[in-house]
Amino acid sequence: MASLALDSLGSIDPAAPKATGANAVPVARTETGPRGVGTVRFENVAKTYRSAGGEVRALDDVSLDVSSGAIFGIIGRSGAGKSTLLRTVNRLEEPTSGRVLVNGEPIEALRTDGLVALRRRIGMIFQHFNLLSTKTVRQNVALPLKVAGIGKAEVDRRVAEALRLVGLEDKAETYPSRLSGGQKQRVGIARALVSDPEILLCDEATSALDPETTLSILGLLRDINRRLGLTIILITHEMSVIREICTDVVVLEAGRIAESGPVWRVFGAPEHPATRALLAPLTRDVPDDLAQRLLSHPAPGAQAVLRITYAGRSAPDLSALVAATGGSVRLLQAGVERIQGHAVGRLLIAAKGMQAEARLRAIGETVEGIGYVAADD
Ligand code: ADP
Repeated sequence: MASLALDSLGSIDPAAPKATGANAVPVARTETGPRGVGTVRFENVAKTYRSAGGEVRALDDVSLDVSSGAIFGIIGRSGAGKSTLLRTVNRLEEPTSGRVLVNGEPIEALRTDGLVALRRRIGMIFQHFNLLSTKTVRQNVALPLKVAGIGKAEVDRRVAEALRLVGLEDKAETYPSRLSGGQKQRVGIARALVSDPEILLCDEATSALDPETTLSILGLLRDINRRLGLTIILITHEMSVIREICTDVVVLEAGRIAESGPVWRVFGAPEHPATRALLAPLTRDVPDDLAQRLLSHPAPGAQAVLRITYAGRSAPDLSALVAATGGSVRLLQAGVERIQGHAVGRLLIAAKGMQAEARLRAIGETVEGIGYVAADD
């Protein structure tokens, strides 16, 4: 009988050879290693889908580096090319041109054995978990190892280890239908980790979960990233997910990179309209009641309304603001948070004196005058 191998989608590849020998269970692995273990490089990647209906250019000249141990987010509107890009990493999609390097090695030339080995080093989790309903949690998690021909004792040991890692030791004999969404995703994560991968791909992994469960799954992913040194590449439409756990983010727009960089920078000072549109739900705008009373020209006794933007500098220095505005400043709205140790967000202030904006700029603030309000407003 032909040997079987499970690819990361859970489908069986009958042509693949059995793995020999047992790999180690997940262990702490935080160094990059000589070949850049856990790195992904996209070089001028393009993908055109051709069908009877015509051509769709899903990716266009995408060049990008994902460093070892990063939690790398891919965002963009629906149809921007996110899934296509993610799926080129384990060759579920083949680029039309350009190439993808995993751990420094181009993957386009891999033949069956090499592809099976690649997919074992790249785990994948999905929005709808993709668990087999007729198998227990233990059997679901064990599947990739069994298909790879690993012996029972080793399978048992590694499944127990993976279930411990995701906090589901007590659910080993339970069937998926008896689990909550969060628990099902934990099984998905355990199954992805049981082969001791270097990279974990997450395709909208929290989109089917409620906010509280989302936070617990994100906490687990962050923990795995730190403890195992695993590189995580994730697609999400939830900007809060990116803000919560990602180190880096790329914004795709119509198959091209709109912008990319550390999350604190891209979220703190979004440059591309596509990024601004995606971030709009997170960005506090001028409150409606204030917007209605804003004057476009200074009136006697009015105060200037100024928006100060923080995108990576240290925390707002309130005493410097007070000093620069001559001691007359009101805080109208504040939304500053810390992302990766950087202050990101905005303050809306009302300051007396027409020079306030220039003085704030002189002390290095990023400030924008947006109108005037009566001093007693
Ligand atoms: P996203 O994940 O950002 O929603 P996708 O990568 O799924 O975007 O799709 C990018 C573009 O490619 C879309 O226009 C989509 O309709 C098209 N596309 C995706 N997969 C296929 C396919 N198998 N055949 C034809 N067109 C496709």
